[in-house]
Amino acid sequence: MNHNDTNTNKEVYDDDIIIKDCIFCKIIRNEIPSVKIYEDNETLGFLDINPNSRGHILIIPKMHFENIYSLPVETWCHMNIKAQKIAVALKHALSADGMNIVMNNESTAGQLIFHAHIHVIPRYNDHTENKYTYIADEMEEVAKEIKEVL
Ligand code: 5GP
Ligand code: ZN
Repeated sequence: MNHNDTNTNKEVYDDDIIIKDCIFCKIIRNEIPSVKIYEDNETLGFLDINPNSRGHILIIPKMHFENIYSLPVETWCHMNIKAQKIAVALKHALSADGMNIVMNNESTAGQLIFHAHIHVIPRYNDHTENKYTYIADEMEEVAKEIKEVL
């Protein structure tokens, strides 16, 4: 049974914790579009919309936890197992020359979306800028390439 908690803006859907106004909770519920790379019971991986590089992926828990401090250790471990798999896939699918695995916690550390996430950011010798802009259907094409080796 679902219920709302007006004080915290938290909703409980059966056992799942989601936050009404959280962009990533909305992505999980398909209320806003995203280009997904994989999905399992606990986590979701999708392309960052404003990437640092071509193939920049975010891994998020399906339940809403703000950051590293509140993440259950099992969820944290699961996210990291996925981060490694994704990193290997990016290496092969996109011929990455390097890989950053990053998590920002609290605004002082650069966290903008307060739903815990790991960034997996492939790096390329010929693209040293910390910004990439996809053209037309490129996000779907990149996702297809990654999924083929995942
Ligand atoms: P943070 O700074 O919180 O660690 O990173 C948040 C990331 O989420 C940013 O890299 C930003 O580009 C990404 N992001 C923000 N809103 C959306 C969105 O609606 N869709 C997707 N796919 N990524 C988003
Ligand atoms: Zn959320």
